[in-house]
Amino acid sequence: MKSRTWILGLVLVVASALIPSPATAFCIQATGGNNVRWAGSTLIPRKASTVPTGWDSTVNNARIDWNGIAGSTWSYSTPSRTVTTSSAYVISNVDFSANGWQNVPGYTILTISGSQITKARQYQNTDYSWNFSGTMVSGSQADVHTVVMHEMGHILGLLHPLYCGTMTAAEQAAAMNPDWTKKWDTNSDDEAGAATLY
Ligand SMILES: [Zn+2]
Repeated sequence: MKSRTWILGLVLVVASALIPSPATAFCIQATGGNNVRWAGSTLIPRKASTVPTGWDSTVNNARIDWNGIAGSTWSYSTPSRTVTTSSAYVISNVDFSANGWQNVPGYTILTISGSQITKARQYQNTDYSWNFSGTMVSGSQADVHTVVMHEMGHILGLLHPLYCGTMTAAEQAAAMNPDWTKKWDTNSDDEAGAATLY
C-alpha cells in the first residue's frame, strides 16, 4: 500500500476560511470507510537528544493527559531517550527556518499506509523561545505543555477541528484547536475524538 505523509503545523486559520457547514464534534480522517489510526493503542514517545532534559517532566505530563480517557484504550508509554531510525514515534527539536518550514511552534509528520498510521515524527521549532508558563505568542514564544500535548493529539490521529467545519464551543476550547492560548489538559472534545479512534 502506498504511504503518504501528513504535515500538521500549529497554524492559525483566518476567520474568512471558516466553512459554513453544520458543526460536528472533533476532526479525524477516514479513508475507505476506516478511521486513520494506529493498529494498536500504545505508543512510546522517544525523545531525541535535541529535546532538552529540562522538558522531561512537562513532556511526561503532556503524554499522561491523553491516557486513561473514559471510553478510550489509548496510552502513551513512559517516554524514552532511546531513538533509532526505525522508531515508530520520535520527538525532536529542530530549526524550522533552516529547513524552510513555516514559522510555527510545532509540526507533526505522519506516515500512513492505507488507513493505518505506521510512523510519526514530532518537531518543536528552535526558532521559538520556549517557556513553561503558558505564554503563547505567534511567531516568537511557545509553551512546552500546550504545544507538546497538541502535537501528541495529532500523533494519535486527531486533526484541527476547524478542518471539519465550523467549530462548536467544545471544539474551540479543545487542545486540538491551535488558538495561541494556554492549554494544559485535554477537554471533552479531544477526549471524545480519542475515544472514537481507540
Ligand atoms: Zn496542529
